Formats: sequence, C-alpha cells, structure tokens
Amino acid sequence: MPGFKGLYVPGPSNMPFRVRQAMDVALEDHRAPDFPQFILPLLADVKKIFKTETGHVIVYPGSGTGGWESAIANTLSPGNKVLASVFGQFSMLWVDLCQRFGLDVDAIQVDWGKGVPLDQYRAKLDADKQHAIKAVLVTQNETATGVASDVAGVRRILDDLGHPAMLFVDGVSSIACIDFRMDEWGVDVAVCGSQKGFMMPTGLAIVCVSEKALKAGETAKLPRCFFDYRDMLKSNAQGYFPYTPAATLLRALRASVDMLLEEGLDNVFARHRRLAGAVRAAVDAWGLRNCAQGPEWYSDTVTAVLVPEGFDANDVIKTAYNRYDLSLGGGLNKVAGKVFRIGHLGWLNEIMVLQALGGVELAMHDVGIKFEPGAGVGAAVRHLSKAGEAMRMAAE
Ligand SMILES: *Cc1c(COP(=O)(O)O)cnc(C)c1O
Repeated sequence: MPGFKGLYVPGPSNMPFRVRQAMDVALEDHRAPDFPQFILPLLADVKKIFKTETGHVIVYPGSGTGGWESAIANTLSPGNKVLASVFGQFSMLWVDLCQRFGLDVDAIQVDWGKGVPLDQYRAKLDADKQHAIKAVLVTQNETATGVASDVAGVRRILDDLGHPAMLFVDGVSSIACIDFRMDEWGVDVAVCGSQKGFMMPTGLAIVCVSEKALKAGETAKLPRCFFDYRDMLKSNAQGYFPYTPAATLLRALRASVDMLLEEGLDNVFARHRRLAGAVRAAVDAWGLRNCAQGPEWYSDTVTAVLVPEGFDANDVIKTAYNRYDLSLGGGLNKVAGKVFRIGHLGWLNEIMVLQALGGVELAMHDVGIKFEPGAGVGAAVRHLSKAGEAMRMAAE
C-alpha cells in the first residue's frame, strides 16, 4: 500500500529521521583511543534523562527484559524476599523472572486496570519488622493495560517506615516520556529499553543503578556474568566496555538524548500529557471505556481501550492492519480480545495522534462498533486545540 504505515503500538515507537541518520555510519573500532570521547559524555548525558547525579547509567546490548534481569542478578541472593504487584503482562513477567531466579516473591494480585497498591505495600512493609524484604518492585507504567503507578508514593512508604529495602522500577515504557526522578525518589535500579521513549530501534537495555544497589552487589550471591555491573562500571570509567558494545545503537542513543534534552524533559512530559489527553477524550467520545480504572491510573504513553461486549478487539486490530496499514497493540493475557492499545509515546505530535484516532475510527466502523464517526477525532481536535492554547498562553 502506498503511504506511511502507522506505527501506534506502545513500542517500538516511531523513530525520528535524525536518530536513523545517526546510525548511517561505518562500523567503528570500540577499542580506538578516541572512543571514550564519545562514550563518557554520552553516559553523562543519559544520567540527565534519569535525573540522577549519584547513580550510574549502564547500557547493555539487550532489551528491557535484560535490564530486569540485571537488576535482580546483581543485587540479590537466592531465597531473598521481594515485594511486587501484578496488574498486567509486564508486571507479571518481572515476577516470573524473579521466581526463575529462585527469589521468594510476595506478588500482590491487583485488578488489571489498577496499579501498585500503596496501602498493601505499606501494610506488608510495616509488618516486616525483621526487614526480610530486600527489594520492592514497581512497574511505573504497565504497558499492557495503560496504567501508571506512583513511584514517589512507594518511596514515601519506605521512608516513613525506615525500611531499608531497595526500590526497583521498571520504567521501560515511561522513562523519557513520563516524569521519572532517580535521585529524588531514591530508586536503586531503574530499567529502560531503547525502543520506547528513547525512539530508537530495539537493542539496548538502559539501566540506572544507585550506590546502594552496587553496595548490595558486593555480597549478593546470584550468578551473573554478562550483566555484572562491576565489570561494566570498571570499563565504562575509562570510556570502554567489557565486551563489544552496540556502537551503532550508541550513535542512535546520542541523537536520541540530544533530541530529548533540546526539547527539554518538562516539555517532553507535557507533550505526552497533551497527546494522551486527546486519546482519552476520543475514547470518551466513542462511548468506550479506558482499561485504566480512573484518572489516578491514566498512562500518558499508552491507552488500552475496552471494546463493547460482543466484539473481539482482535478484529479491530486485524482490520486496522490489513485494510489501513495501522498497527495497534493487542490485548495480552487476561485482557486478550478485550482491549486494543494505542501507543502514544516517543516521537509523536498532534497530527500523528489524529491519524491514529482516524484509523481506529475506520477500523471500528468497519467491524460494526456503534459510535458516531468523527466523534473521537473531533473530541481530540477540541482537546488539542485547547491544550495548545493554554500552552501558548503559559509561554507568553
Ligand atoms: C516493553 C516492556 C518491557 C519489556 O521490554 P523488552 O524491551 O521487550 O524486553 C518490560 N516492561 C514494560 C513496562 C514494557 O513496556
């Protein structure tokens, strides 16, 4: 089909031409004497994305899942207790990974549509007077359901109780899109991947590690080799890597970080907020429900839309793809067939969001879902126009 394909899955996200062009370079010698001149400033600048001064950024060839594994393997010992909550496919898979590593996971099951249950975290941590819980897991943005959770709230609980557990955050679909503050929130390991907020191809696990996590690593007994933070930090300090880095992707990361910092993180977050608001306005106007069960859970990077009773969300997704070259995210696991997901993260603007919403309307209309064609797009136009006006007023 002629024209662009619409990529509106919540990762991989759309890749800017500047990022693509940054990778159009000859392969390079990662042991060259001038390689550190590229690596050292790059790692320093990625720290700004995590909002950390005291943390260490580590970049692996890999994906977000590798980042999860690094967090666990570097800091914990077999049988250690960790506190987690499950409310979607990704929070579930992180727990599965912990279990496969032989950890004792207390995984609180939550309705898919809500997020980290702060009250239950508080109760569990309060009851843990012996400090058996070594780490607390938070999926900041559950990509399967479009639910965002309150990381700062978990930090407050740990501080209130004087509980020394480490705080691990899955920020794969939130970092570089939604506010994240490594130092202020006292996060010990934050995990991200390259193909979501960083607007790059898949292929890098990007993590940020606190001094406290490194300290825990000195006595942690889980086996690790590829992901060993110590090997990486030792080489990184000189501007090198313990094994062949994905240098071409690091060139892309350089362009990505430049773009994010040039736009300004606050503007990046505000843009995601504005565009997400347009998608939510459209969902309302269609008379459909957001899988996230209330505004406190709304995600600014992905919206999971519940289709009406009697419809299969996969029909909407297939129709969108087969007839209109529009990729939407599917429902995973418990919400399979019940939701389709609109990814609105990364390199995205108003008209791209309207394109996605228009495509969703076409597909929903084709499969017979009842709504007034144009209602969602119209609501999004009103939302974006108003939000844009407010933004311009504020800038004056
Ligand atoms: C995409 C995603 C992952 C998995 O990352 P991969 O890069 O696919 O390994 C983990 N957690 C969340 C929240 C995600 O969105």
